[in-house]
Amino acid sequence: MEILLESIPTILTVLSTVCGAVTIAMLGGMAIWTFRDMRARSRDPLAQILATLLVLVLPIVGLVVYLMLRPRETLEEAYEHSLEQEALLQTIEEPEQCPNCGHRADNSFLYCPDCHTRLKRACSACGNPVRLHWSLCPYCGSAVAQQDREPVATSEDQSSPEGLAVAEP
Ligand SMILES: [Zn+2]
Ligand SMILES: [Zn+2]
Repeated sequence: MEILLESIPTILTVLSTVCGAVTIAMLGGMAIWTFRDMRARSRDPLAQILATLLVLVLPIVGLVVYLMLRPRETLEEAYEHSLEQEALLQTIEEPEQCPNCGHRADNSFLYCPDCHTRLKRACSACGNPVRLHWSLCPYCGSAVAQQDREPVATSEDQSSPEGLAVAEP
């Protein structure tokens, strides 16, 4: 009994040492994970340090708060998204293809050579190709008549070359 009582402080010391070591290891792990995670999400070194400090100072709570507040996208994801959006914008701005059949269409094409869909119209003043939804010719600045802009549609999709000639102003 005496021996057991005497050994209690030693056991406690060992236990607390083990607990301390585990705690420090976990804290270190959480801090390193947070730092790496934040570095993937923000280039701001201050934000990286603050996030790491937050987790170190308030071990579990800090991590939860960090997970709630961290930027949703990593830098890589954000970059991929911006590339996607740019590509999307380009397809809207510069239709290199016929929207109807997908045939390759030059910027100056007024009609799809394959399915005869109307792609653009010629400016009535200067004859340059103008997009169907534009109200002003970007080449010469002349306004495009409303009536001229309206017939984007289906009736002309199947029109013959002779019909096209009539339709042109
Ligand atoms: Zn086409
Ligand atoms: Zn023009």
